[in-house]
Amino acid sequence: MPREARSGSSEKRPDAAYRVGIGYDSHRFAAGRPLVLGGIRIESEVGLAGHSDADAVCHAITDAVLGAAGLGDIGEMFPDSDPANKDRDSVGMLEAAVRRVAAAGYSVGNVDVSVIAEAPRLGPHRDRMKARLADVLGVDAGAVSVKGKTNEGMGWIGRKEGLACIAVATLFGKSE
Ligand SMILES: [Zn+2]
Repeated sequence: MPREARSGSSEKRPDAAYRVGIGYDSHRFAAGRPLVLGGIRIESEVGLAGHSDADAVCHAITDAVLGAAGLGDIGEMFPDSDPANKDRDSVGMLEAAVRRVAAAGYSVGNVDVSVIAEAPRLGPHRDRMKARLADVLGVDAGAVSVKGKTNEGMGWIGRKEGLACIAVATLFGKSE
């Protein structure tokens, strides 16, 4: 059968067995705030400002997981306008997102995260972050990757105004 004749059926199937989502988050550094990344409290002179505990790693992963399932984003699930979301535990938000995609028939395959910041160094905290995130996501620690990068001194990240986080998640499920 010619390729043209096949396209439009299987190739456009919305409920593919394997899906990918991306998430991005950034927060400004602020004195007197805790620094929580990937559900782990990190000793630091500055923390991150923002609604909730400003855990940019959990926020980016939450968006990646929801995005992979086509289920919106963290802002829709936990609006800033709702006082109940102020200082909400970001691990709890990620858990809720995982439950929502599970209810839609998906399970998390793996997650890969890049944290872009001039400081602090993530290396000493990486294993604990991976273990915590794996527990929340319901996967083995080997299915979670957390990488630290600097921005080579450039721009707002280089000036240490804040940090950014990019996450990719795969989901399995809905195969028939
Ligand atoms: Zn955030």
